[in-house]
Amino acid sequence: MTTEKPAEIVGRCPICKRPTDATYRPFCSRRCSDVDLQRWFAGSYAIPAIEVDDPDMEGGDLEIG
Ligand SMILES: [Zn+2]
Repeated sequence: MTTEKPAEIVGRCPICKRPTDATYRPFCSRRCSDVDLQRWFAGSYAIPAIEVDDPDMEGGDLEIG
C-alpha cells in the first residue's frame, strides 16, 4: 500500500481545471495560457459589443421597403 502524494501540487489550470504544468503555470498548457491571455486582452481593451453595421444595410434597406 503506497500513499503516493503528488510531489508538488502547484495548482490547477484556471481554464480547464487540469493539473498545472510548471512550464506554463498557472496553466496546464500553452493553449490554456493563450486562452487566458486573450481573455485578459479582451478585458483590457474593453472591446465594445460587436455591432458592425453593414454600410450596405443603411439606406439600401430603406429603399427596399
Ligand atoms: Zn488548461
